[in-house]
Amino acid sequence: MAYDLIVIGAGPAGITAAVYAARKKMNFIVITGDIGGQAAWSGDVENYTGYQFVTGPELAAKFEEHMRAYGITVKEQEEARELIRDKAVIRVRTERGEYEARAVIIASGKVSKELGVPGEKEFKNKGLTYCATCDGPLFSGKSVAIIGGGNSALDAALQLVKIAKKVYVINNMPKLGGDHVMREKIESNPAVQVLNGAAVLAITGENMVAGIKVKRLDKEEMIPVEGIFVEIGLIPNSKFAGIIDKNKLGEIKINSNNETNVPGVFAAGDVTDVPEKQIIIAAGEGSKATLGAFKYISRMR
Ligand SMILES: Cc1cc2nc3c(=O)[nH]c(=O)nc-3n(C[C@H](O)[C@H](O)[C@H](O)COP(=O)(O)OP(=O)(O)OC[C@H]3O[C@@H](n4cnc5c(N)ncnc54)[C@H](O)[C@@H]3O)c2cc1C
Repeated sequence: MAYDLIVIGAGPAGITAAVYAARKKMNFIVITGDIGGQAAWSGDVENYTGYQFVTGPELAAKFEEHMRAYGITVKEQEEARELIRDKAVIRVRTERGEYEARAVIIASGKVSKELGVPGEKEFKNKGLTYCATCDGPLFSGKSVAIIGGGNSALDAALQLVKIAKKVYVINNMPKLGGDHVMREKIESNPAVQVLNGAAVLAITGENMVAGIKVKRLDKEEMIPVEGIFVEIGLIPNSKFAGIIDKNKLGEIKINSNNETNVPGVFAAGDVTDVPEKQIIIAAGEGSKATLGAFKYISRMR
């Protein structure tokens, strides 16, 4: 059976797309790796209208509650692997099966970049992680290093300074980037030591992370830490969409109606080339994508 719509992803864009599809009484499913997406990883969210202050996990829980209220079919922990256009339907192939629909919304967001240094793969989930919000509490009272110097790294450092004994921020640029308010909070905190111009050479340890080897001012040094948070940016989850046009960053190209180059395939949120990656923007784009998909399907009938 072909659905009207398949929504890929359940971050702010996918959840909003799903809520709009439910309200339009479309016959649809959501296929997603997780629920909440990056919104659930963010520490404090202070720029989502209606909430002067809310944590990322709280906001993500509110989004999920809203989606669940409509009894939407959500295929969780299932990832799209391929997208195929077959005459008037689009097939979404996952590791568990194949689904078809008249329209698809790709809202698969972004995923953390890897460092690509020795030790990274061996110590993944053995002290090395890509999510401060999810794993920060495991490092209570310990020394940790955040790798990166932009907003994600600053956000992680601000979360960890409340939990850990000591926080190193290892930044390969000469100065920290990110918002100046966050930068000031980091630079004035005595429990945080910022190492600018430091390149990570390797992650070391026995069974668990024990340190990080860096090169700074032409000198190699070992920093003893039990936790490492890699926060060096994100890449779009768009590989599975081989038939869709992307820009050089791998972001899906869309027009102002969220249409891609393939008729019936729409995209929304961080996975697209829309400038500025924010929760409120992703949510707004998700709603627009569903309204566009709804019009597209109505024209087919
Ligand atoms: C640390 C951090 C802090 C942030 N703080 C803020 C903030 O304070 N304010 C703000 O506005 N924004 C913030 N952002 C940015 C904001 O979180 C993102 O812009 C927003 O979550 C993007 O929503 P999205 O739905 O497009 O994608 P995502 O949130 O990335 O969600 C993508 C969804 O797609 C799923 N998925 C991925 N690949 C597949 C696949 N192949 N098949 C099926 N499902 C798939 C994922 O499991 C996930 O559910 C922050 C981001 C980070 C990382």
